[in-house]
Amino acid sequence: MNTQILLAKRPNGMAKDSDFDLKKTAIPTISEGQILIKNEYISLDPAMRGWMNEGTTYIPGVPLGAVMRAFAAGQVVASKNPDFTEGSYVVGLTGAQTYSVSDGQGLSKVDLLLGSLSWHLGILGMPGMTAYFGILERGKPMKGETVFVSGAAGIVGSTVGQIAKIKGCRVIGCAGGKDKCNYLQSIGFDAVIDYKKDDVSVKLKEIAPEGIHIYYDNVGGNILDAALMNLARGARVVICGAISQYNDPSVQGPKNYMKIVSARGTLTGIIVFDFIEKYPIAILQLSKWLKTNKLRYQEHVVEGIENFAPALRMLFTGENFGKLVLKI
Ligand code: NAP
Repeated sequence: MNTQILLAKRPNGMAKDSDFDLKKTAIPTISEGQILIKNEYISLDPAMRGWMNEGTTYIPGVPLGAVMRAFAAGQVVASKNPDFTEGSYVVGLTGAQTYSVSDGQGLSKVDLLLGSLSWHLGILGMPGMTAYFGILERGKPMKGETVFVSGAAGIVGSTVGQIAKIKGCRVIGCAGGKDKCNYLQSIGFDAVIDYKKDDVSVKLKEIAPEGIHIYYDNVGGNILDAALMNLARGARVVICGAISQYNDPSVQGPKNYMKIVSARGTLTGIIVFDFIEKYPIAILQLSKWLKTNKLRYQEHVVEGIENFAPALRMLFTGENFGKLVLKI
């Protein structure tokens, strides 16, 4: 059988179990040009909460009754497409389901020599690409600069911070709780701020009295405002995400945005899909850094497709510690 997670309702605030339906159908058959993928892992990403809303942002909202959009990684178990051989592995936006049919468009072939299958949903997949291009092409880190990263213990944040270290920067991470802050220090962050305990703006002033040259924003809200209060001249603020706002229908904009003016700074957005042509270069580089221990990576694996909704919520309660994936 194919087990599918369908979007049943548009959530109000945090997604509930009842916003999804679990449906069992026959394993689909394929036509000429198609492949059948047996998914082994489903990726849980903060953006999925936005995809559940009505309307279009950079990508249309998931229609009600449709399979929930998700990146998944799996094995090609049947192929009527000469580009994909049976037994090979692929990742793509093939949905929260145990079997997917695809014509191959938008799929990436997985090279298991570069990293294990689930890594291609994380550090060697969309979030890893976000970190790589977000910090290098938007943040443009220079040796000796101070970089501040929020959501720092997550897959995007921890990778951004470590790449900035590789580029010779001093890196300050912001995360919730002692364990995550200790982890950041263990992977080489120079300083940490626990936003659940500390006043972020006061702490930043203490740690970086000369100001921060790059703020890589994964969370928005008050932490963005605290970072804006502490910009060095010429600072680059990279808006990657705003997880503190995703469940809130009345999004708070930054109060201290005029600090961009006094810092002669820039505030730029990034959408990872704009870099798709350059993914192969980034995957090779990240894999090399992983193999030489210049980069550390942690996964948080939850078992069972039936746990899709509670696992997704973990991203918004901070219960995940590392890249969150659902193992089927
Ligand atoms: P993640 O950091 O692995 O997981 C989410 C983490 O966010 C949680 O563990 C929690 O950590 C933190 N968080 C949750 N609610 C929060 C709140 N109210 N205030 C502060 N922190 C909160 O997720 P990720 O995959 O690396 O994604 C990080 C960000 O990048 C997200 O905003 C995501 O939307 C964005 N993103 C953007 C793109 C793009 O193309 N622009 C692509 C991928 C991801 P704590 O325990 O530390 O609170």
